[in-house]
This record gives sequence, C-alpha cells and structure tokens, in this order.
Amino acid sequence: MKKRLSLEDYKSGVLNGNRVRLSQAITLVESRLEQDSKLASELVQEILPHTGKSIRIGITGVPGVGKSTFIESFGNLLLEKGKRLAVLAVDPSSQKSKGSILGDKTRMEKLAADKKAFIRPSPAGFTLGGVAAKTRETILLCEAAGFDVILVETVGVGQSETTVKSMVDFFLLLVLAGAGDELQGIKKGIMEMADGIVINKAEADNMSAAKRAKVNYQNALHLFPKTESGWIPPVLTASSITKAGLEDIWNMISEYEAITVESGFKEENRSQQRIKWLEENLQFLLSNRFFQNSMIKKKLLEEKPKVQSGEKSPLALARELIEIFFDNSK
Ligand code: GDP
Repeated sequence: MKKRLSLEDYKSGVLNGNRVRLSQAITLVESRLEQDSKLASELVQEILPHTGKSIRIGITGVPGVGKSTFIESFGNLLLEKGKRLAVLAVDPSSQKSKGSILGDKTRMEKLAADKKAFIRPSPAGFTLGGVAAKTRETILLCEAAGFDVILVETVGVGQSETTVKSMVDFFLLLVLAGAGDELQGIKKGIMEMADGIVINKAEADNMSAAKRAKVNYQNALHLFPKTESGWIPPVLTASSITKAGLEDIWNMISEYEAITVESGFKEENRSQQRIKWLEENLQFLLSNRFFQNSMIKKKLLEEKPKVQSGEKSPLALARELIEIFFDNSK
C-alpha cells in the first residue's frame, strides 16, 4: 500500500507550489472517506493564512459559446503577463454536457502544458452542493500554491451559475450575437449576476452582428437594478480565435479589481461568501451523515413505498426520520 501523506507533507508541498502535491491535496479534499475528509479540513485550516491573494473569476455561457476556447486564449494572455493561472470547473459530472469538459484537455493544450497554469476538472460523483464545497476548498489550495488568477468555469444552464457567482470576485458571461434575438435565450437572472458580458466570436463576417448585439445587451443591462458593488457591467466584444478584444477583457477585470479593493467591496463580498460557505458545508455534512446512518437507511427503505403509494405524508416521514436521527446521535 502507498504510504499516506502526512498533514505536513501536503502543507509544505502546496505552499512550495509543488503541482503534484497540489493535485494530491485536491484529491484529498474531494475524497469521501472520513479520515481523508478530516485531514483535508485540517489542511485547509493550516493553509488559510496563505490564501485570498488571487482574483477569482467565474466564466459562464451556454455550451458552444466558446468557453474552453476562450479560457485557452485568455489564459495564455494571462500567462504572457506573468500571471499564474488555475482553471477549475463547477459542474456535477452527471449534468456535464458534451463540449464543456475541462478534463478534455486537448482543447486547452497550450495551457495544460504550461507550468504556470494548472487545470483541474470538476470533481466527479457529487451533487452541485458537493462540487461547490470542494471547488471552494480547491480555490484556497490553488491560492496557497501561488496561483494568482483562478478561473472557474460553469456551463450556462441551470443552477450552477448562482453557485459560481457565490465563490468568485468577478462573474463573466459569454454570449453570441444572434439575429436580433440574442437576449431571448439568456435567463434574466444570469444577466443580472454578470459583472461583464463578452460577445464571443466577434470577428470577420460576424462583426456587425456582434456590434448590434453589444448595443442590445447594453440597453438590456440599463433596465436592471444597480449591482451591489455599484459597478456598471460593461459589454465587450471579443474573438477567442483571433484574440481580438481579450486585452480589453483583462483591463475591465483589472479595473473592477482596483475599484472594489479600494471601496472595500471585494473583502465584504468575500466575507459574505465565507458565511455562505459555512452554511453550505453544514448542509453538506449534515445530509451526508444523515443518509449514511444505518438506521435511517433501513427506515427509509421500509417506509418509502408508503410515501410512494400516498398512504403516508412525505412531511410526516421526513419528520419521523429526523427525530430518529437526532435522538440517536445524542
Ligand atoms: P464551450 O462549449 O462553451 O466550451 O465552447 P467551445 O470552446 O468548445 O467552442 C465551441 C466551438 O466554437 C468550437 O468549434 C470553437 O472552435 C468555436 N469557437 C470558440 N470561440 C470562437 C471564436 O471566438 N470565433 C470562432 N469563429 N469560433 C470560436
């Protein structure tokens, strides 16, 4: 059997920026084994003083909008600027649609090969809540390892945007120019969360449509209430293939960073996120314990058919199970 690494092994490896150790530490954080989970939380506590010094950027957009391509191009621009970049994903594997898998490293070949970049796909086999909890810890580990820009990708469908929004400083929405109907497919809620919108594939024949889309998005954004930070989300155009506009995107994010550091919003936002993180962890740990409890498993198996048939109320059974769980864990 392989020798188990000690807390000190993980800690010194991560703090020295050792990529193999960082990967192992993330695997530890993602483990479902109780002994790993305990060690993982000790590790995260230990490295905490070395975290926080990055810009955390969330990236979303529907499949096909060009997220992987954008991350490859934009990521390489950041590396040229001397940044150290970590790319993470927040999507439960079961929901992951084809074409957005960060594990598909072929589409991020250059990034994946660069020592200053670190790419980690979404942890497999968790629900969204679980993935989120692991990704937050992974962000901290990456920061402790010296990465100063963290990109968190998510597919632009469903609930995962809210989750990513709650773990980043800047939330970037990628969209495409359409034939005048570009706003229809994007949920209002997602636009409202965005700190910046980028119309991707803005090049050649597509340029004039992209410019029209830009005006449409700007008009639409005016109708939204002011963002919490007071920042007015810009709408930019870019091409992940020609790389036009990528520099402007970095300038926008840097400006946001400077303004929100100065105003105190960045720290305030992160404080709120930490509380949310606590609440999510509580929910995650509680439900894990609950569903792994043998008495609960047994009772659930026995009683479920009654709920299914309509003989017993779901609320009554839920309350009964909760009573059993807490009575027996005193
Ligand atoms: P994802 O599903 O959002 O990750 O999208 P991908 O990065 O896989 O891109 C989907 C398709 O759009 C691929 O064929 C890319 O080559 C293409 N693509 C991405 N960005 C651009 C761009 O800026 N211009 C053009 N012309 N094609 C792009």
